[in-house]
Amino acid sequence: MTAEAEQLAGRILKGERRALSRAVTLVESTRADHRAAATALLEVLRKHKRQALRIGLSGPPGVGKSTFVEAFGMMLVKAGVRIAVLAVDPSSARSGGSILGDKTRMDRLSRVASAFIRPSPSMRHPGGVSRRTREAVALCEAAGFDVVLIETVGVGQSETMVAGMCDLFVLLLAPAGGDELQGVKRGIMESADLILVNKADGDLKPAATRTLADYAGALRLLRKRPQDPKGFPKALPISALELHGLDQAWAEMQALAAWRKAKGHWNVRRAGQAIHWFEEEVRAGLLARLKDDARVKRTMAAHGAAVAAEKISPDAAAAEMLAWLKG
Ligand code: GDP
Repeated sequence: MTAEAEQLAGRILKGERRALSRAVTLVESTRADHRAAATALLEVLRKHKRQALRIGLSGPPGVGKSTFVEAFGMMLVKAGVRIAVLAVDPSSARSGGSILGDKTRMDRLSRVASAFIRPSPSMRHPGGVSRRTREAVALCEAAGFDVVLIETVGVGQSETMVAGMCDLFVLLLAPAGGDELQGVKRGIMESADLILVNKADGDLKPAATRTLADYAGALRLLRKRPQDPKGFPKALPISALELHGLDQAWAEMQALAAWRKAKGHWNVRRAGQAIHWFEEEVRAGLLARLKDDARVKRTMAAHGAAVAAEKISPDAAAAEMLAWLKG
């Protein structure tokens, strides 16, 4: 490890935000020398074994995620809890912007010295997003944050990815007309520890109460897990705008985290996630290696042509290809 990296590690451990920013930029880089430096840096920081509460937050566009994160973050800051917010935006490549690109988002929180907010990199290298996010989480933990909130828009696979790297998963929903419940993917409902029905205020209050009852019922049907204390997963009404229910939401998150820690589920969950990401990395690495290999490319193309010309079935060609790879 270079002296420069050593110094960067020291500054991160002291909680310097600028050093943290630089390190996040480093882990986002795809340059080989940066990658090597990032890996070395993370190894040094890992030895300090600092842990934050990792909260995953997902919800459809417009549900009030940024309003919630700002209000929730400000509440934590006032209570002396240091929070880092990482946003994962699966659509940034398409829209050309980041979900934090809008300057008005989390305006107050971003100016608080003890908080850290970081938009995600674009999706130009989709395979790398989860690794970069995980590494950014690790950096925030090393920098001494108490809470790392990983926010994502509830579309595509990003929410599954985020659910797979957090200690608690929170789903933010809005009051809905009858059929909207079906719009939430089952897998995500199953991952949710806490459903917060936002906008439970003003004219929306009655709809919020109905939605809450629907989701609470759906949650009870969907899941009963030994790693949940009684009453979890839970659905709560909140108003990020009028600041209602945020303290209760935080109390529930803390209660669940404490319970999981006490029962050992916390470590089991983290260990399971670590194995999962290890296997994913190996898989992605193998695929990348295959894709870059000229001989593999030629053989794939030849088999592809034979399949297209109906000389061989897709399955038989795949079996031949796999046998060739093995041999
Ligand atoms: P995001 O796309 O999920 O990040 O949603 P935003 O935080 O940008 O909020 C979308 C819209 O919902 C904005 O106009 C907010 O002012 C509004 N909003 C957010 N939270 C609440 C709330 O608790 N109550 C009401 N009535 N509106 C809210």
